Amino acid sequence: MKTGPMVALEMVCKIYRGPSPVRALWDVCLSVAEGEFCLVEGPSGSGKSTLLAVAGGLERPTAGTVRLGGREIQSAPRAELLAVRRSLVGFVFQDAKLFDVLSAEENVALALELRGVPRRKALEKSRALLAELGLSDRLRYRPSRLSGGERQRVSLARALVADPRVVLADEPTANLDSETGRQVVRLLQRLAAERAVTVLMVSHDLRLADCADRLITLVDGSVERTTVREAVA
Ligand code: ADP
Repeated sequence: MKTGPMVALEMVCKIYRGPSPVRALWDVCLSVAEGEFCLVEGPSGSGKSTLLAVAGGLERPTAGTVRLGGREIQSAPRAELLAVRRSLVGFVFQDAKLFDVLSAEENVALALELRGVPRRKALEKSRALLAELGLSDRLRYRPSRLSGGERQRVSLARALVADPRVVLADEPTANLDSETGRQVVRLLQRLAAERAVTVLMVSHDLRLADCADRLITLVDGSVERTTVREAVA
């Protein structure tokens, strides 16, 4: 059963201060339901990464309201923000941001250990998920010995291993060949459809748009267009 919304932004503005302030988001309203797969596209510099960072509580908005899992987070204390993120969100970034002192399986297991799961159990779950992503022969590899595509799949496994309710993915297919990219997107699509995970994914690859329930087009920090699936190319 779908209830809503898991992620909600109301009149959100984000201005990066500095010698020449940047208006990265302006009056953004966006509501993403449980189990919905939203793709965010737009030209470079249009605010896509900022939108994800604000939606996931990595950046605070300059104005407006942000709700994650029904909780208002825009001015929540840091500890509360961290707790909400840990319990609800899995992040996937364009550069995989893995620890090179740890093996692939340890990088993924760490996400569980940080949540109090015993190491043995964490490693078991990590291995199972990496195998599902086609990496069973890379479990002990350090990230620097993996290809870009393999690193990105490890990063995806790390985001998914703690069963997040929300996945925020910033260009997760940017470094992948098109077939691997499509596999990653299919996996996210399945999570949304079968486990009601809410997915907000930034991509400039509009060939992936047919996988999404909704396509959001950002231009100059504002939502220019929203296209629901039936009408998506
Ligand atoms: P996109 O993901 O669509 O390329 P971003 O959200 O990364 O866009 O950036 C939106 C605008 O905000 C750009 O003009 C960018 O230069 C600026 N920006 C992003 N992050 C910062 C930051 N930490 N400090 C200052 N300006 C930033």
